[in-house]
Amino acid sequence: MKCLPLLLISCSYAPEKFDNLTPAQARAYGVGVADGTPHTGIIVSSTFGTFGKMERVCGYPKGWLVAGCAIPATAPVWPDPQHEYHIYYSERCTAYHEAAHALFESHHHTGPYLLRSYRGDWLAACP
Ligand SMILES: [Zn+2]
Repeated sequence: MKCLPLLLISCSYAPEKFDNLTPAQARAYGVGVADGTPHTGIIVSSTFGTFGKMERVCGYPKGWLVAGCAIPATAPVWPDPQHEYHIYYSERCTAYHEAAHALFESHHHTGPYLLRSYRGDWLAACP
């Protein structure tokens, strides 16, 4: 029940382009990117889904907090050899978080994001 208001908000959120995402914005959404880092990755698909879908699609161990993921599109390695990624997200901030992972090809997280995640904050990607 706790997720219901969140899901209703999420359902109304339409995916958008992330072309102008800056390193500072990436950090605000929890992804560790240094200033001046260029976009090197391409988002080939962007998919909204429930937390349950994220858990299935993203393949984390049972019980992990899974709000979304960025998955290499052409090979099961990071970074993707062709620099192409599918992103999956269950709410708005996570969409930007996963877009930042893909566009900057960074798997690093900021300290504040990690702290909030470890405490079980479903919205850890939100500034
Ligand atoms: Zn992340």
